[in-house]
Amino acid sequence: MTPDQIKALVRTVPDFPAPGIMFRDITTLIAHGPGLSATIDHLAEMANSAGAQALAGMEARGFIFGAAVAARMGLGFVPIRKPGKLPVPTIGVDYALEYGTDRLEIDPTAIPDGQRVVIIDDLIATGGTALAAAELLRMAGAQVTHALFVIDLPDLEGATRLRHAGLRVDALMD
Ligand code: IMP
Repeated sequence: MTPDQIKALVRTVPDFPAPGIMFRDITTLIAHGPGLSATIDHLAEMANSAGAQALAGMEARGFIFGAAVAARMGLGFVPIRKPGKLPVPTIGVDYALEYGTDRLEIDPTAIPDGQRVVIIDDLIATGGTALAAAELLRMAGAQVTHALFVIDLPDLEGATRLRHAGLRVDALMD
């Protein structure tokens, strides 16, 4: 399947989670066997070009794509978690949301020093989540040069923010 055919499987839900927001929902895409498989193929090709030695994905939808791509490539997967979920000592980064702040945490022992880790998530909007993930992985000693997404919302300019921070950004669709 081509990226355009995969794009047709993404559902748009108006007014979620708040009035005026058009939520791009990948539930319909991952429910479609050939669509999911083709999405993982495309992402794995992008991760291979990026020289990935491991994949890292953000809770929760980044787990779906990141773990599948890692398994397809025979690489390990690092879960980037919401606060308080990991049962071991963690390192964390707080980052700003439109209203308030959020936090991501990882187990720093999950990443061998200097390993080239590629970030994967379902969607990039403002880029705040991916920037925090990159900072966190770098704190743990990873080399982070690429971030991959199924969907980019270009109007929100997250990819531009990431590029200004020195990351290569690639997405399957806008
Ligand atoms: P950002 O930090 O503003 O780039 O927001 C990206 C994060 O919010 C990702 O982890 C996405 O899963 C989530 N997100 C934001 N908007 C949407 C959407 O329309 N559909 C699905 N996820 C979204």
